[in-house]
Amino acid sequence: MSEDTKKEEKKINFISWEEAKQKSKVFLSNFTLKEKTYLMYGTSIKPSNRCVGQIDPIKSGFFSPVKFQGIKLDDGPTGPRFQKGLTNSWPTCINLSSTFNRNLIFEVGKVQGSDFYHKGVNVALTPCINLLRVPVGGRIFEAWGENPFLTGEMASELIRGIQSKGVIACAKHFIANEQEKYRNSSNSVLDERTLMEIYVEPFYKAIKKGDVGCIMCSYNAVNGVYMYRNKLMKEVLKDKLGFNGFIVSDWWAVYSDSPDSINNGLDMNMPGNISKIPYLGDIGFKPSYWSTLQDKVDKNLIKEEKLNECAERIISTLYKFGQMENFPKTENFEVNYITEETKQLNRKAATESIVLLKNDDIILPINLKKIETMNKKYKIGILGIDAFKGDFYGQEGNIILTVLRGIKLDGHIVNGIGSSQTDMNYVVVPIDAIKTKTEKCKNIELAPYAKLDKEGNEDIENSKNIVKDCDIVLIFVQSISGEDMGKNLADRKDLDVMHNGNKLIEEISEISKNIIVIINSPGPVNLEWKDKVKSIIFGGLAGPESGNAIADIIFGDANPSGHLPFVWGKREQYPADVKELPNEFGMLKDGEQEFKDEVKYEEGLFIGQYWFDKKNEIPYYYFGHGLSYTKFEFGNLECNFDKKEKKLEVKFTIKNIGEYDGCVVALVYLGFPLKDENYPERMLKGFDKYFLKINESKECCIIIEEHDLSYYDVQSKEFILPKSGNYKVFVGQSANINDLNLQKEVNID
Ligand code: BGC
Repeated sequence: MSEDTKKEEKKINFISWEEAKQKSKVFLSNFTLKEKTYLMYGTSIKPSNRCVGQIDPIKSGFFSPVKFQGIKLDDGPTGPRFQKGLTNSWPTCINLSSTFNRNLIFEVGKVQGSDFYHKGVNVALTPCINLLRVPVGGRIFEAWGENPFLTGEMASELIRGIQSKGVIACAKHFIANEQEKYRNSSNSVLDERTLMEIYVEPFYKAIKKGDVGCIMCSYNAVNGVYMYRNKLMKEVLKDKLGFNGFIVSDWWAVYSDSPDSINNGLDMNMPGNISKIPYLGDIGFKPSYWSTLQDKVDKNLIKEEKLNECAERIISTLYKFGQMENFPKTENFEVNYITEETKQLNRKAATESIVLLKNDDIILPINLKKIETMNKKYKIGILGIDAFKGDFYGQEGNIILTVLRGIKLDGHIVNGIGSSQTDMNYVVVPIDAIKTKTEKCKNIELAPYAKLDKEGNEDIENSKNIVKDCDIVLIFVQSISGEDMGKNLADRKDLDVMHNGNKLIEEISEISKNIIVIINSPGPVNLEWKDKVKSIIFGGLAGPESGNAIADIIFGDANPSGHLPFVWGKREQYPADVKELPNEFGMLKDGEQEFKDEVKYEEGLFIGQYWFDKKNEIPYYYFGHGLSYTKFEFGNLECNFDKKEKKLEVKFTIKNIGEYDGCVVALVYLGFPLKDENYPERMLKGFDKYFLKINESKECCIIIEEHDLSYYDVQSKEFILPKSGNYKVFVGQSANINDLNLQKEVNID
């Protein structure tokens, strides 16, 4: 980054919302009502602008100066989209979440913010804070796992990071949008408490902790009303949670010209008036439903103050983040913003996100120094197409386009499919990273092999020949899911790994007893071969540095510290599922569609692990599970409830009692003093990550704030503290009760 661009960033002037609102009133005082409506809907997608949506600049007359500079909005969760590889692409959010490292996510957010800023993007359409309710859900990799508390905490850090660089973040998709099946025509049905305690919670944090500037509404309906005109926007986000920014629709999610959209809180319609895009069906070339807003005011269907409020919210958000005074006007499209520093941060984030699920006989890490002292060769078999570069890389710099054209996934995957995809500048695949690590080691012999047959299955016979004399075998398997962009790239149809990977593992396990499986997937997969392999690494979808990150863990250059942000069970153990995927193309239609699906959130508050706890289901791996090469000992739990401040202080010590330096994650669970069997037995309400050298011990203190000690009371419609009784406090390394070995009760009377 040049000195000039750095200076430009420093000039950002952050002001209070109050001041921003005042300024926006003054700014808009010489706008006509019609002009105000121009701020509220887009008029086209212009791919040449390398963003997915925009509000055009406004001039007061043909020859007059620009009255308003316009607004650009761009995806998305893994970095700025459509930038031809000239900005950083990141690990997916499900990976960022598994780091459990707030500071790291803040740092990632800062670089993302800076990248969006220099590409002239005002609004970054990230983070996605929907929850992993169904394990096959297509977009689970774009979000932060199953837990509302974890999601809210981590996503707020990303938001703070992005916004610290003068770019507005956009939390999406509000709300109850946990699967792709019929996303444009499904109705999510849920009760008020479930809505508020589980699904609104990440939005609560995005607003209260992240001070997020923008929120996107979702495509689906909730309790019978499509979200673009659902009063939850106004009543929950604006009135109850005090959201100050503006609400934008999801793309083409404004299905009608109903005045309810504006009256119930939607401020901006995106992308508004559209040009024809092949997969969108019959909505091409329609003028925006919002081009007639002024008539609606004339007919008294929308009050003028409502339009004023929308315009003010949009403009005051720009003021709040310093964009009205100082935002790059000429976008530096052709400048490459990837530096050695950003690459290092990327690698750190990817490495911290890798979860070591299993490590029998301490088979990992592979110790190259020790191997060098042996007087024999050490042969490593490397199998599975996922370890290698694919043909689908590099074509038009954009994986999504090639996949949509039917080119099969035939290499290492580092992202899911959909609007969150970025054009990657580079991808380090595992085989290359392993070669780099081992090239100077004369005793190491690598035996890499993978080939897909015509049906897309691994060539198992030849793989078997390769591993016969190997000391250890690495098997890379994968699965993928995505956003509904047609062609069944959305929700997964099952949880099996692709390319017949299960069979590959089973058959190789007949030959080798030293197998390490590396899984790259958006979330849980079937592990029926779990007991036949020594070690399992979950790589998730870790972005361009994925190969390096995996190799760092395998060879012990990094001590694993990723933890699962979801419970990993068999498909039938989860509280909810998506069955029978539609084989029709999930096209957008002109007008509201009749509901094709009712998504009943009948499990209530029992999402993910909470359901497993209630039903005594034993998962493959608990929420929070993740091994380290060292061992940690927890002790000395002390809890103090501060009645005046309404805070709970949880103190404990952790000692590194193993043989490696490393990071540990402490989780704090609370059992609430509520006599209600419809309330989870214990819920995650605190966590932190600490680095400890060998033998080092640390005094840890986690403060649990009033909101996180509260429950949603349906009568008063508020979050309130329980009146009396004891909280049960549990501290440990995973949601497994056997791992939560520090326990205490705290009285709050
Ligand atoms: C997605 C959003 C995305 C938008 C713009 C929609 O299809 O649901 O997450 O931000 O497209 O690309």
